[in-house]
Amino acid sequence: MDSGATNDPFPHRHLLGIEGLSRREIVYLLDRADSYANQPRGAAPLAVLRGRTVINLFFENSTRTRTSFELAAKRLGADVINMQAQTSSIKKGETLIDTAMTLNAMRPDALVVRHPESGAVQLLSEKVDCAVVNAGDGSHEHPTQALLDALTIRRRKGRLEGLVVAICGDVSHSRVARSNIYLLNAMGAHVRVVAPRTLIPAAMERFGVDVFYDMKRGLTGADIVMMLRLQTERMHGSFVPSIREYFHFFGLDYAKLAVAKDDALIMHPGPMNRGVEIDTEVADDIDRSVIRQQVEMGVAVRMACLEALNREARTSAAP
Ligand code: ASP
Repeated sequence: MDSGATNDPFPHRHLLGIEGLSRREIVYLLDRADSYANQPRGAAPLAVLRGRTVINLFFENSTRTRTSFELAAKRLGADVINMQAQTSSIKKGETLIDTAMTLNAMRPDALVVRHPESGAVQLLSEKVDCAVVNAGDGSHEHPTQALLDALTIRRRKGRLEGLVVAICGDVSHSRVARSNIYLLNAMGAHVRVVAPRTLIPAAMERFGVDVFYDMKRGLTGADIVMMLRLQTERMHGSFVPSIREYFHFFGLDYAKLAVAKDDALIMHPGPMNRGVEIDTEVADDIDRSVIRQQVEMGVAVRMACLEALNREARTSAAP
C-alpha cells in the first residue's frame, strides 16, 4: 500500500488488505464507521461522494458484500455501477487487466473488486488510476469483513484489546480468517484458530495465533466465537470425512458453546450453512448471536472505507 503524509489519518491510495495497516489507521476507520452506524435510519444521502462514481466489479458471487458496498456508496451520494462477471465481457474472454483498463478509461473514482484468485485485486490496483477496494480475493484477504467484525465486537464489548477470539472452521480457505487475524492481532486481542488439522494451513502459529484441533479446548473461556463456512468452492479434494461428522466435532451447538464465557458472542460472516458449521438455534439466538448486526455494520464500515480513500471528501461534507 502506498503511504503519503504522516499526519494523514489514512495515507493509502487503495484498501487491499488489513496486513500493513497500523492500529491507528484501523481505529480511524472504526471510529468513522461508528459515527456512520449511529446515523438515523432514512437519513438523506450525504454529499461526501457527490459527483463521484464507484464501480462494483464482482468476478465471484456475492449478496451481502456487493449490496452493502452499493448502499454505502449511495448513502455517501456517489453514483454506482454494478458489474457481474456473468453479464459482462469477462464471459467473452476479456482478461482481468483488459477489463480493468476499460473501466479505468471511463475514469471512475473507485473500483470495488472481488475475484476468486488471491492477489488479483492487487494486480488490478497497479494498472488503474483510481482507488481500489478489495472486496475479497481468493483465500487471501477480505478487509472490510474484518473491519465490520471488529466494529460489531467493539460496539458490544466496548473494546477489542484483551478479548479471546476463537475463529473456527475452514481457516485454510478463508480470507475472512486471514483479515481478522491481522486486525485482531494489531488491536491486541488473543486469537485462537480451531479446526481439524486438514483445514488449518501449515505453520499457522507464524500468524501469531494459538492453534486448537478440538472445539472444547479452543472455545474454553472465549469472548467471541467466530464460525466459518466450509468453502467447498476453493477445495480441491476432500477435507472432511462427511458433513455429519464435521458437524458432530466442529459444528457450533449449545453443548460446545457451554465452555465459552457466559456472555460470549457468536459471529458468522455469511453465507451460513446451518447444520454444517453452525446449529440453527445458536445462529438465531437473539442474546448471543450478532450475525445480523455484522451485516448492519457492513454498510457503515464500507462508507468509512470509501470516504477514507477519497482524501478531498474527508476534509469536507463528512458528519
Ligand atoms: N462471505 C465471506 C467471503 O466472501 C465468507 C464466505 O464466503 O464464506 O469470504
